[in-house]
Amino acid sequence: MELPKPIKDFVQRFSQLPGLGPRQTTRLVFWLLHQKEETQREFYHTFANLFFQTQTCPNCFFISEKNNSEDKLCEICRDRQRDHSTICVVEKETDLISIENTNKYRGVYHILGGLISEIDTAERQKLTIPHLLARIKKSANSPHKIKEVILALNPTSEGNLTIYYLEKAIRELNLDIKITKLGRGLPHGGEVEFADAETLVNALEGRK
Ligand SMILES: [Zn+2]
Repeated sequence: MELPKPIKDFVQRFSQLPGLGPRQTTRLVFWLLHQKEETQREFYHTFANLFFQTQTCPNCFFISEKNNSEDKLCEICRDRQRDHSTICVVEKETDLISIENTNKYRGVYHILGGLISEIDTAERQKLTIPHLLARIKKSANSPHKIKEVILALNPTSEGNLTIYYLEKAIRELNLDIKITKLGRGLPHGGEVEFADAETLVNALEGRK
């Protein structure tokens, strides 16, 4: 038996999502098809909005809701109450969310979009490292000079390689910037995203 094409396409497409396989996706299809028309419409719009009503912040690369502002900055970058002299560098959006959920960090962020890998050198091209360096350089002559860069990356081999690379690149700017790393607490090989709030706060406060 061949499944109807719309279902086959859906299963094929959604099986690409992290954590979802064809079996789970097929179950999802029939669940969705059994919903009321109104619920189906809501799913449709929620999904479309995710793609068409979001934008990437040109400063820190976090995602925000589309707004009419010219600068397209996210809520965090626009917040004047925050400390714009401290940048916390993270691998991905979910790491930023974990740190934000601690309610203890008042600086701003920079999302790298990945980590440097020894094997995959093409991946390095996609990281926002040049933007981070440009951001630091540009701030040097502004009232919001960046004074500290916290490298809040996972303590894995790729994380350490990225830290090593970033430290060197930032030092070479010769701008007298304090570079810190997360302190003890995060286990070796552990992940920022999944660390509990207390561990993250300890690691941030114990940064050196
Ligand atoms: Zn931003």
